[in-house]
Amino acid sequence: MSRRPLALLAAVLVAVLAALGLTACGDAADGRPRIVVTTNVLGDIVTELIGDQAAVTVLMKPNADPHSFGISAREANQMRTADLVVYSGLGLEEGIAQHIEAAEKSGVTVFEAGAHADPIEYSSGDSAGTRDPHFWTDPDRMAKVVTALTPVLAENVTGIDAAALTASSEAYRGKLAELATEMTARFGTIPTPRRKLVTNHHVFGYLAQRFGFEVIGAIIPGGTTLASPSSSDLASLTGAIEKYDVPAVFVDTSHPDKLAAALAKETGRDVEIVPLYSESLDAPGTEAGTYLGMMRVNTRRITDGLT
Ligand SMILES: [Zn+2]
Repeated sequence: MSRRPLALLAAVLVAVLAALGLTACGDAADGRPRIVVTTNVLGDIVTELIGDQAAVTVLMKPNADPHSFGISAREANQMRTADLVVYSGLGLEEGIAQHIEAAEKSGVTVFEAGAHADPIEYSSGDSAGTRDPHFWTDPDRMAKVVTALTPVLAENVTGIDAAALTASSEAYRGKLAELATEMTARFGTIPTPRRKLVTNHHVFGYLAQRFGFEVIGAIIPGGTTLASPSSSDLASLTGAIEKYDVPAVFVDTSHPDKLAAALAKETGRDVEIVPLYSESLDAPGTEAGTYLGMMRVNTRRITDGLT
Protein backbone atom coordinates (compact mmCIF):
# COMPACT_ATOMS: atom_id res chain seq x y z
CA MET A 1 0.00 0.00 0.00
CA SER A 2 1.28 3.48 -0.87
CA ARG A 3 2.02 5.71 2.09
CA ARG A 4 0.82 8.88 0.35
CA PRO A 5 -2.95 8.46 0.92
CA LEU A 6 -2.31 7.80 4.61
CA ALA A 7 -0.12 10.89 4.92
CA LEU A 8 -2.82 12.95 3.22
CA LEU A 9 -5.50 11.54 5.52
CA ALA A 10 -3.34 12.39 8.54
CA ALA A 11 -2.90 15.96 7.31
CA VAL A 12 -6.66 16.37 6.81
CA LEU A 13 -7.34 14.94 10.29
CA VAL A 14 -4.87 17.35 11.87
CA ALA A 15 -6.53 20.28 10.09
CA VAL A 16 -10.01 19.18 11.18
CA LEU A 17 -8.94 18.66 14.79
CA ALA A 18 -7.23 22.05 14.84
CA ALA A 19 -10.42 23.71 13.59
CA LEU A 20 -12.53 21.91 16.21
CA GLY A 21 -10.01 22.72 18.90
CA LEU A 22 -10.03 26.41 18.03
CA THR A 23 -13.83 26.54 18.26
CA ALA A 24 -13.94 24.65 21.55
CA CYS A 25 -11.14 26.58 23.26
CA GLY A 26 -12.21 30.01 21.98
CA ASP A 27 -15.49 30.01 23.90
CA ALA A 28 -16.94 27.13 25.87
CA ALA A 29 -20.45 28.52 25.36
CA ASP A 30 -20.03 28.83 21.55
CA GLY A 31 -20.88 32.51 21.84
CA ARG A 32 -24.22 31.70 23.50
CA PRO A 33 -25.26 33.53 26.68
CA ARG A 34 -24.19 31.68 29.84
CA ILE A 35 -26.55 30.74 32.68
CA VAL A 36 -25.19 29.21 35.89
CA VAL A 37 -27.72 27.29 38.01
CA THR A 38 -26.92 26.10 41.54
CA THR A 39 -29.13 23.02 42.16
CA ASN A 40 -29.70 20.17 39.70
CA VAL A 41 -33.48 20.44 40.25
CA LEU A 42 -33.49 24.04 38.99
CA GLY A 43 -30.91 23.12 36.33
CA ASP A 44 -33.49 20.77 34.83
CA ILE A 45 -36.18 23.46 34.91
CA VAL A 46 -33.95 26.10 33.26
CA THR A 47 -32.90 23.63 30.55
CA GLU A 48 -36.56 22.69 29.90
CA LEU A 49 -37.40 26.36 29.39
CA ILE A 50 -34.37 27.61 27.47
CA GLY A 51 -33.47 24.54 25.37
CA ASP A 52 -30.14 25.17 23.62
CA GLN A 53 -30.61 28.93 23.42
CA ALA A 54 -28.08 29.41 26.24
CA ALA A 55 -25.19 27.41 27.69
CA VAL A 56 -26.49 26.12 31.06
CA THR A 57 -23.97 25.14 33.75
CA VAL A 58 -25.37 23.19 36.74
CA LEU A 59 -23.13 23.29 39.83
CA MET A 60 -24.67 20.60 42.06
CA LYS A 61 -23.89 16.98 41.14
CA PRO A 62 -26.56 14.21 41.01
CA ASN A 63 -27.43 12.73 44.43
CA ALA A 64 -25.66 15.55 46.26
CA ASP A 65 -26.84 17.56 49.26
CA PRO A 66 -28.02 21.07 48.26
CA HIS A 67 -27.31 22.42 51.78
CA SER A 68 -23.65 21.45 51.83
CA PHE A 69 -22.25 21.10 48.29
CA GLY A 70 -19.26 23.27 47.42
CA ILE A 71 -17.77 24.52 44.15
CA SER A 72 -14.29 25.01 42.64
CA ALA A 73 -12.56 28.38 42.13
CA ARG A 74 -13.20 27.98 38.40
CA GLU A 75 -16.94 27.49 39.00
CA ALA A 76 -17.01 30.51 41.34
CA ASN A 77 -15.47 32.54 38.52
CA GLN A 78 -18.11 31.21 36.09
CA MET A 79 -20.77 32.54 38.48
CA ARG A 80 -19.17 36.00 38.62
CA THR A 81 -18.99 36.25 34.81
CA ALA A 82 -22.33 34.62 33.88
CA ASP A 83 -25.17 36.41 32.08
CA LEU A 84 -27.55 35.06 34.73
CA VAL A 85 -27.29 33.05 37.97
CA VAL A 86 -30.36 31.05 39.05
CA TYR A 87 -30.36 29.77 42.62
CA SER A 88 -32.89 28.10 44.90
CA GLY A 89 -32.43 30.44 47.88
CA LEU A 90 -34.33 30.92 51.16
CA GLY A 91 -31.06 29.80 52.77
CA LEU A 92 -30.82 26.42 50.98
CA GLU A 93 -27.34 26.60 49.43
CA GLU A 94 -25.35 27.17 52.63
CA GLY A 95 -22.14 25.80 51.09
CA ILE A 96 -21.95 28.41 48.32
CA ALA A 97 -23.83 31.38 49.79
CA GLN A 98 -20.74 33.60 49.61
CA HIS A 99 -20.28 32.86 45.89
CA ILE A 100 -23.90 33.80 45.09
CA GLU A 101 -23.34 37.06 46.97
CA ALA A 102 -20.05 37.66 45.11
CA ALA A 103 -21.77 37.15 41.74
CA GLU A 104 -24.46 39.65 42.66
CA LYS A 105 -21.84 42.17 43.83
CA SER A 106 -20.05 41.72 40.47
CA GLY A 107 -23.21 42.98 38.79
CA VAL A 108 -24.55 39.62 37.59
CA THR A 109 -28.35 39.30 37.56
CA VAL A 110 -29.27 36.68 40.17
CA PHE A 111 -32.71 35.03 40.39
CA GLU A 112 -33.76 33.58 43.76
CA ALA A 113 -36.36 30.95 42.83
CA GLY A 114 -37.69 30.38 46.36
CA ALA A 115 -38.62 34.05 46.78
CA HIS A 116 -41.23 33.58 44.03
CA ALA A 117 -42.67 30.34 45.42
CA ASP A 118 -44.96 31.86 48.09
CA PRO A 119 -42.66 30.57 50.87
CA ILE A 120 -43.92 29.15 54.16
CA GLU A 121 -42.18 29.08 57.52
CA TYR A 122 -41.24 26.01 59.51
CA SER A 123 -43.90 25.50 62.15
CA SER A 124 -41.87 23.22 64.42
CA GLY A 125 -38.38 21.93 65.12
CA ASP A 126 -35.11 23.85 65.50
CA SER A 127 -35.85 26.00 62.43
CA ALA A 128 -39.35 27.16 63.56
CA GLY A 129 -40.12 30.69 62.38
CA THR A 130 -37.58 30.71 59.52
CA ARG A 131 -38.50 30.27 55.87
CA ASP A 132 -38.55 26.73 54.49
CA PRO A 133 -36.45 26.47 51.28
CA HIS A 134 -37.86 23.10 50.09
CA PHE A 135 -40.58 24.63 47.86
CA TRP A 136 -40.08 22.16 44.94
CA THR A 137 -41.85 19.37 46.88
CA ASP A 138 -45.10 21.11 45.77
CA PRO A 139 -45.42 21.25 41.93
CA ASP A 140 -47.77 24.26 42.19
CA ARG A 141 -44.93 26.18 43.89
CA MET A 142 -42.62 25.15 41.05
CA ALA A 143 -45.18 26.48 38.55
CA LYS A 144 -45.04 29.88 40.32
CA VAL A 145 -41.25 29.83 39.95
CA VAL A 146 -41.51 28.98 36.23
CA THR A 147 -43.93 31.90 35.75
CA ALA A 148 -41.52 34.30 37.48
CA LEU A 149 -38.40 32.90 35.81
CA THR A 150 -39.66 33.07 32.20
CA PRO A 151 -39.46 36.89 31.78
CA VAL A 152 -36.10 36.94 33.59
CA LEU A 153 -34.71 34.49 31.02
CA ALA A 154 -36.19 36.61 28.22
CA GLU A 155 -34.49 39.76 29.56
CA ASN A 156 -31.09 38.26 30.28
CA VAL A 157 -30.52 35.89 27.36
CA THR A 158 -29.49 38.11 24.46
CA GLY A 159 -31.03 37.18 21.10
CA ILE A 160 -33.49 34.74 22.64
CA ASP A 161 -36.40 33.37 20.56
CA ALA A 162 -39.12 34.79 22.82
CA ALA A 163 -41.92 32.80 21.14
CA ALA A 164 -40.07 29.52 21.71
CA LEU A 165 -39.49 30.44 25.36
CA THR A 166 -43.17 31.32 25.89
CA ALA A 167 -44.20 28.02 24.29
CA SER A 168 -41.81 25.91 26.38
CA SER A 169 -42.83 27.75 29.56
CA GLU A 170 -46.54 27.11 28.91
CA ALA A 171 -45.90 23.49 27.97
CA TYR A 172 -43.87 22.88 31.11
CA ARG A 173 -46.49 24.45 33.38
CA GLY A 174 -48.97 22.05 31.75
CA LYS A 175 -46.73 19.14 32.75
CA LEU A 176 -46.51 20.48 36.32
CA ALA A 177 -50.31 20.65 36.51
CA GLU A 178 -50.52 17.04 35.27
CA LEU A 179 -47.97 16.01 37.90
CA ALA A 180 -49.99 17.67 40.70
CA THR A 181 -53.15 15.88 39.52
CA GLU A 182 -51.32 12.53 39.46
CA MET A 183 -49.85 13.10 42.93
CA THR A 184 -53.29 13.98 44.34
CA ALA A 185 -54.78 10.79 42.88
CA ARG A 186 -51.99 8.53 44.10
CA PHE A 187 -51.76 10.04 47.60
CA GLY A 188 -55.56 9.79 47.74
CA THR A 189 -55.19 6.01 48.00
CA ILE A 190 -53.44 6.38 51.41
CA PRO A 191 -55.99 6.22 54.25
CA THR A 192 -56.05 9.59 56.05
CA PRO A 193 -54.83 8.26 59.44
CA ARG A 194 -51.73 6.87 57.72
CA ARG A 195 -50.74 10.17 56.07
CA LYS A 196 -47.93 10.80 58.54
CA LEU A 197 -44.42 11.66 57.49
CA VAL A 198 -41.15 11.02 59.32
CA THR A 199 -38.16 12.18 57.28
CA ASN A 200 -34.38 12.66 57.52
CA HIS A 201 -34.74 16.43 58.05
CA HIS A 202 -37.73 18.77 57.59
CA VAL A 203 -37.87 18.51 53.79
CA PHE A 204 -41.58 17.92 53.07
CA GLY A 205 -43.39 20.89 54.64
CA TYR A 206 -44.70 22.11 51.26
CA LEU A 207 -45.70 18.62 50.11
CA ALA A 208 -47.50 18.02 53.43
CA GLN A 209 -49.40 21.30 53.16
CA ARG A 210 -50.36 20.75 49.51
CA PHE A 211 -51.39 17.08 49.70
CA GLY A 212 -52.73 16.75 53.25
CA PHE A 213 -49.97 15.00 55.19
CA GLU A 214 -48.96 15.53 58.79
CA VAL A 215 -45.24 15.84 59.52
CA ILE A 216 -44.70 13.82 62.70
CA GLY A 217 -41.02 14.59 63.01
CA ALA A 218 -37.58 14.38 61.48
CA ILE A 219 -34.41 12.59 62.50
CA ILE A 220 -32.56 15.92 62.23
CA PRO A 221 -35.18 18.16 63.85
CA GLY A 222 -34.57 21.18 61.60
CA GLY A 223 -34.59 22.44 58.03
CA THR A 224 -30.96 21.71 57.21
CA THR A 225 -28.86 18.58 56.96
CA LEU A 226 -25.95 20.49 58.55
CA ALA A 227 -27.18 19.76 62.07
CA SER A 228 -27.28 16.62 64.17
CA PRO A 229 -29.95 15.24 66.47
CA SER A 230 -29.46 14.91 70.22
CA SER A 231 -30.31 11.67 71.98
CA SER A 232 -33.43 13.29 73.46
CA ASP A 233 -34.53 14.34 69.94
CA LEU A 234 -34.22 10.72 68.84
CA ALA A 235 -36.03 9.46 71.92
CA SER A 236 -39.01 11.76 71.33
CA LEU A 237 -39.11 10.76 67.66
CA THR A 238 -39.08 7.08 68.61
CA GLY A 239 -42.03 7.81 70.89
CA ALA A 240 -43.90 9.56 68.05
CA ILE A 241 -43.29 6.67 65.64
CA GLU A 242 -44.71 4.26 68.22
CA LYS A 243 -47.66 6.51 69.10
CA TYR A 244 -48.75 7.00 65.48
CA ASP A 245 -47.76 3.49 64.39
CA VAL A 246 -45.66 4.94 61.53
CA PRO A 247 -44.81 2.18 59.02
CA ALA A 248 -42.01 3.94 57.13
CA VAL A 249 -39.25 6.52 57.62
CA PHE A 250 -38.22 8.48 54.52
CA VAL A 251 -34.55 9.38 54.06
CA ASP A 252 -32.61 11.36 51.43
CA THR A 253 -30.68 9.33 48.85
CA SER A 254 -27.74 11.70 49.41
CA HIS A 255 -27.35 10.67 53.06
CA PRO A 256 -26.42 7.41 54.73
CA ASP A 257 -29.39 5.89 56.55
CA LYS A 258 -27.47 4.72 59.65
CA LEU A 259 -29.42 6.95 62.03
CA ALA A 260 -32.73 5.99 60.46
CA ALA A 261 -31.85 2.31 60.78
CA ALA A 262 -30.87 2.77 64.44
CA LEU A 263 -34.10 4.62 65.06
CA ALA A 264 -36.21 1.94 63.38
CA LYS A 265 -34.47 -0.72 65.46
CA GLU A 266 -35.02 1.29 68.65
CA THR A 267 -38.80 1.29 68.13
CA GLY A 268 -38.82 -2.51 68.05
CA ARG A 269 -41.36 -2.34 65.24
CA ASP A 270 -41.26 -3.24 61.59
CA VAL A 271 -40.39 0.25 60.31
CA GLU A 272 -39.28 0.41 56.68
CA ILE A 273 -36.47 2.80 55.63
CA VAL A 274 -37.42 4.29 52.26
CA PRO A 275 -34.86 6.37 50.32
CA LEU A 276 -36.28 9.34 48.38
CA TYR A 277 -34.90 11.85 45.90
CA SER A 278 -36.20 14.56 48.19
CA GLU A 279 -33.76 17.32 47.24
CA SER A 280 -31.54 16.09 44.42
CA LEU A 281 -31.97 14.50 41.02
CA ASP A 282 -30.46 11.12 40.26
CA ALA A 283 -27.96 10.76 37.35
CA PRO A 284 -29.12 11.94 33.90
CA GLY A 285 -31.04 9.28 31.96
CA THR A 286 -32.31 7.50 35.09
CA GLU A 287 -35.94 7.48 36.26
CA ALA A 288 -35.33 10.27 38.80
CA GLY A 289 -32.94 12.16 36.50
CA THR A 290 -35.48 14.96 35.88
CA TYR A 291 -37.67 16.99 38.26
CA LEU A 292 -40.87 15.37 36.95
CA GLY A 293 -39.31 11.91 37.23
CA MET A 294 -37.97 12.53 40.74
CA MET A 295 -41.40 13.66 41.93
CA ARG A 296 -43.09 10.59 40.42
CA VAL A 297 -40.59 8.19 42.03
CA ASN A 298 -41.04 9.91 45.42
CA THR A 299 -44.85 9.87 45.11
CA ARG A 300 -44.83 6.15 44.36
CA ARG A 301 -42.41 5.32 47.18
CA ILE A 302 -44.28 7.44 49.77
CA THR A 303 -47.60 5.87 48.77
CA ASP A 304 -46.20 2.32 48.83
CA GLY A 305 -44.43 2.99 52.15
CA LEU A 306 -47.58 4.20 53.91
CA THR A 307 -50.15 1.87 52.35
ZN1 LIG B 1 -33.06 20.05 52.87
